Amino acid sequence: MVINTMLQKTFVVFCVPLLLAVCAKPPSPRLELALGTVCTVNLFEGGNAQLYSDIFSRIQEIDRTMTAFSEEFSDIIAINKQAGIEPVQVRDDLIAVLETALYYAALSGGAFDPTIGPLVTLWGIGTDSQRIPGDAEIAAALALVNWRDLVIDREAGTVFLRRAGMALDLGAIAKGYAGDEAARIAREGNVQRAIIDLGGNIVAVGSREAAQNGTEALPWRIGVQNPLDERGASIGVLWVHNASVVTSGVYERYFVSDEGKHYHHLFDPANGYPAENGLLSVTIVTESSTIADALSTVVFVLGFEYGKAVIDSIPNAEAIFVFDDCRVIITDGLIGFFMITNDAFTLDL
Ligand code: AMP
Ligand code: MG
Repeated sequence: MVINTMLQKTFVVFCVPLLLAVCAKPPSPRLELALGTVCTVNLFEGGNAQLYSDIFSRIQEIDRTMTAFSEEFSDIIAINKQAGIEPVQVRDDLIAVLETALYYAALSGGAFDPTIGPLVTLWGIGTDSQRIPGDAEIAAALALVNWRDLVIDREAGTVFLRRAGMALDLGAIAKGYAGDEAARIAREGNVQRAIIDLGGNIVAVGSREAAQNGTEALPWRIGVQNPLDERGASIGVLWVHNASVVTSGVYERYFVSDEGKHYHHLFDPANGYPAENGLLSVTIVTESSTIADALSTVVFVLGFEYGKAVIDSIPNAEAIFVFDDCRVIITDGLIGFFMITNDAFTLDL
């Protein structure tokens, strides 16, 4: 029901994998480390060295502006340093990303919160200082997490965190924004077909093969990561045209305690712990990569029931929920566009 119009516009499915017989000469993908991950860009017809270089410069610029960890100058670090002191002048694109983040914070009742920084630093997941903090430490960090205390002044071009100790963290949305920017540059360079993969955040530009002589365009085939297996192993495949496919999952960054419990990097601001709701991953499919990225975190933290209600309320957005009992649920608009390829998982319709 939800995305019938999008289905016509954005997705076309074919019954059998028919993508291998594609005639275009495969280009060489380019690879760089940025945004804390491996970024791969594959431009098909029309791709050239200048375009690759423009795309990676832009991705690196977004990394420098929006990372919370870089030793180099970052607007985010500047805002965090001036928390409780004074507003900081920042780049326009950061204002736009923060406004999007605030929109999803409000929409999710704070399950998604761009001021999650103090909690992320306290747990240190994926860093040398990762550990299970004490209750008092968690309470102290949580007291500094509140998106309502993030003040954006678009006219003045400034951002302010009202209380000292607050800290922005755009880890849940920056890669998505970088994906949209990379796709924009590719399209402006007249590239009709491209795959942009920023550490598993995928933007599929155009179609795997363009429509010709009355035949329909062939869709891209995108694997959905198996949260229980090594990177690259998939539970199933999605067929898409012009879409972003973004996953939030417990496997991305985590550590295992001495008791064998997994602690992952997606925090529930309601209690300060990694969200525990039976989900292993949530994949969002929608046109904008920024929105897909924000929604993947929103929905993971909200859990299946509320998360699905959010997705059902947004036109042209779809989701794949993978549960810890290996059940998989997809939203209606993906029926016919997603197929399980791993027997350990079952589609629960
Ligand atoms: P993603 O993989 O897009 O879901 O982003 C995960 C990253 O977002 C984490 O590594 C943190 O930097 C940040 N994060 C964790 N929990 C939240 C939350 N509840 N709201 C916003 N950002 C979060
Ligand atoms: Mg996200």
